[in-house]
Amino acid sequence: MKLSQRALNLIPSEPRRIYDEAKKYTHVIDLTLGDPDLPPPSNVQEAACKAIREGRTRYSANAGLPQLREKIAADAAKEYNMTFDPSSEIIVTVGAMESAYLSLWSLLNEGDEAIIPAPFWINYGEVVKSLGAKPVFVETRPEDSFIVRPEEIEKKISSCTRLLILNSPANPTGAVIPGKVLDQIADIACKYDLTVVSDEIYSHLAFDGQKPESILTRPGMRERTVVVNGFSKRFAMTGWRVGWALAPERLVRAMTQMTENIVACAPLPSQYAAIEALSDRTDESYIRREFEKRRNCVLEELETIPEIRSMGIPATFYAFLDVSRTGMSGKEFALELLKSKQVALIHGSAYGGDAYKDFIRIAFTMQCGELRKAFARIREFLAERKAK
Ligand code: PMP
Repeated sequence: MKLSQRALNLIPSEPRRIYDEAKKYTHVIDLTLGDPDLPPPSNVQEAACKAIREGRTRYSANAGLPQLREKIAADAAKEYNMTFDPSSEIIVTVGAMESAYLSLWSLLNEGDEAIIPAPFWINYGEVVKSLGAKPVFVETRPEDSFIVRPEEIEKKISSCTRLLILNSPANPTGAVIPGKVLDQIADIACKYDLTVVSDEIYSHLAFDGQKPESILTRPGMRERTVVVNGFSKRFAMTGWRVGWALAPERLVRAMTQMTENIVACAPLPSQYAAIEALSDRTDESYIRREFEKRRNCVLEELETIPEIRSMGIPATFYAFLDVSRTGMSGKEFALELLKSKQVALIHGSAYGGDAYKDFIRIAFTMQCGELRKAFARIREFLAERKAK
């Protein structure tokens, strides 16, 4: 059997490789994947069970159940103070991954360029490449807390630039783009007629009472923005595979036609659960509170390890940490630590190349007790290296 050139071009992702490698060891503490260990709210679980018991398990409209799109519109009205038409400006997808994929598929021609601030969520680079388009990376700096500089976006714009991907709060850095910076980016998007894909999947996981802002609400942005979002992180529903996009009607129409060809619709019990998730009965704040507690625990542990530096963790459940003072690159750190202490984490270069070779990413998707054990092993690892 001959595979397509497209399939042959795919590169296995580093996080998956390390995750698979970690499975070869016993007693591993796995800090690799961003998969929350918390249960979804109990009323949401019950809504899915009830849908299954009552046989509400067939296909829905390709764009998702109308009742769910109405709930998403009501949620968007609260978030952005904007009205979206549930029948034409919202699509329910198989996770935010599918809404990201469908929007890029619908917007990019071969040879087009998509600007992506780095470090970035790996899927974006891979999907853009798989469509024959070119990812153009704008490196962010630790001294800017990994917030993109608008003038550096502008420098990367060429006659082929079609769109800009923003992810705030960001995977892997946790960076939240401040409102003033969003204003400047919006001006650039309008000036050069760019579409913005705004991935806001972590918007409800911001700490210290912050509320991340969206580029969507800036003047002139409504008609050029696709908001990618989902239930995975906000409601701890990763395996339920349900997300959504808010976008102008023409784009939603194209995405809906394409989804018919690949998945038909998001899983029905999950869609019923999602309706319940967005009802007034749901209180998902325990999820943010728990991650804030774990974030505090990570920062406390880091204070005891001067060789590892954090630029702050304002949001998400990731910490992107500078390990250069250990004398190791992020990759050496990750591989040696796994071998000698069975703690799995990902090296920073996996998320944006050499510029991040001094970094590691940890996902704190486990309880504080387990996290503290991981840090104890890291301390041992560094002490043993020093003693050699
Ligand atoms: N966007 C970002 C930035 C993510 O980190 C992830 C998941 N790791 C997703 C989208 C995909 O989320 P979902 O489970 O809704 O497909």
